Amino acid sequence: MSVSAAPQNGSAGDDPVGPHGGVGRPEPEPRALFIGGEWRGAASGATREVIDPSTGQVVTTVAEADVEDLDAAVAAARRAFDEGPWASMPGRERARILHRVADLIRRREDDLVATESVDVGKPVSLCRAVDVATVAEQYEYCSALAQGVDGATRRLPFPSHAYTVREPLGVVGAITPFNFPLILSSSKIAAALAAGNTVVHKPAEETPLSALLMAEILAEAGVPDGVLNVVTGAGTVIGEALLRHPGVDKVAFTGSTAVGRHAASVAGRMLKPVTMELGGNAANIVFEDADLESAIGAVIKGFVFNTGQFCMGGPRLLVHRSLYDTVLGILEGAVAGVPVGDPFDPATVVGPMTGERHLAKVEEYVRIAREEGGRVITGGARVHEETGGFYYAPTVIADLSNDARAVQEEIFGPVLTVQPFDTEDEAVALANSTPYGLASGLQTQNLTRAHRVAGRLKAGIVWVNDWAMLDPAIPFGGVKQSGYGREYGPEALEAYTKVKSVVIKLT
Ligand code: NAD
Repeated sequence: MSVSAAPQNGSAGDDPVGPHGGVGRPEPEPRALFIGGEWRGAASGATREVIDPSTGQVVTTVAEADVEDLDAAVAAARRAFDEGPWASMPGRERARILHRVADLIRRREDDLVATESVDVGKPVSLCRAVDVATVAEQYEYCSALAQGVDGATRRLPFPSHAYTVREPLGVVGAITPFNFPLILSSSKIAAALAAGNTVVHKPAEETPLSALLMAEILAEAGVPDGVLNVVTGAGTVIGEALLRHPGVDKVAFTGSTAVGRHAASVAGRMLKPVTMELGGNAANIVFEDADLESAIGAVIKGFVFNTGQFCMGGPRLLVHRSLYDTVLGILEGAVAGVPVGDPFDPATVVGPMTGERHLAKVEEYVRIAREEGGRVITGGARVHEETGGFYYAPTVIADLSNDARAVQEEIFGPVLTVQPFDTEDEAVALANSTPYGLASGLQTQNLTRAHRVAGRLKAGIVWVNDWAMLDPAIPFGGVKQSGYGREYGPEALEAYTKVKSVVIKLT
């Protein structure tokens, strides 16, 4: 069985692992902070090394901001919001600029692909077909949204003219994780800008490079100075300062549930609105009536995509007991055959993990799973250690009980646990049994069952007969400990605007 691990997306095509995925390994220049339309070093002069996950070597450095730099970025964003043209610009004009961003993303595709791949360890073929393609589409989609930031009229039972208007919130603080730097920052920035806000973006420590490249692209497209500011540095220093800053009107956070809980409580004390996109641990249910070949493809895609560093991945396979041994047998061969290697080889499907800390966490969970009685069907070890990169073999573990830590907790690596079930009720109960609720999925050819089970799964999104079908038009977000608020879709505008009511007395 051949495996392509790309989620479906409007422009991803059917075969992202094709001959056109290739791009050279870049040697990025040292990068500065982007504040008020200017590139500047950190006030302290500090820098941080950026590591290539496929070699473990330093590829460049970025400025390591301190609170003083963050203050300057918030002040620039505040000025741009209060005095600049962005918030008051007709939506159609903002739309034109955002559309130009999409065009420039496509023009600079090779740069973006190479930068994101060397920073995160993503295979170039996937990066081109999924990450960069999606980001261009996000800007196009949000360019359309920018033209519809309006309100409604209401009829009241007394002589009046009453209407609502949607207004931007002001300065948005965007805090993003290491695993999808381009997509997860653009989902915030494009929507926030469409609504007329200004932004201070703090990318993850480990993967800051594409955020800085995007700042360059937005400036070239005509986004005015101060509308987007990018500040690189430690979450515990400048992320924390962004949460607490009185000049920041809203925080859009994507990251782990543990940090998100802290971020929400800090922002909550200030009554600052937040969007919380947090961890996940989705189940993929394979019913006895599934198309088995397609189901296995969805299962493998669901847990190896992005080397399992995918909040919406499907690391828990629930399979009908009548298929349990058959599915384990197929997975043993198919998963062992997934090409793991250099992200700059166009044939690679699974690259390295993004850092040693992520690799060590996966190793620890596999050790725990073995202790908990898990049977490793394939994988279960580091690979390509001679490269110095952070590679782990895609791993399948059977025979764990539902309360095993490797089943209940978010491993965030290329590890699949497999559990049998007997009835639909049992499958739904197992799927809903973790604290998370970001995504869920089922494989069945019975349409009635598909709708029935989709309705019973506690998750922000449910996929049927595939995995990771995503598009900028589809709202994205979690329930339970996976967070609240939605990105993507027209719903994203709700996250970046406030509603004002105006009531005029008519005499
Ligand atoms: P993380 O929580 O460690 O870090 C996320 C961001 O928060 C980083 O920019 C970090 O610097 C910052 N941060 C850290 N401490 C902070 C503090 N005290 N105050 C403010 N900011 C702080 O997450 P990670 O390891 O980068 O990413 C992996 C996690 O993100 C996983 O749990 C994954 O499921 C989740 N995730 C969720 C989604 C989603 O859409 N729901 C998407 C991607 C990743």
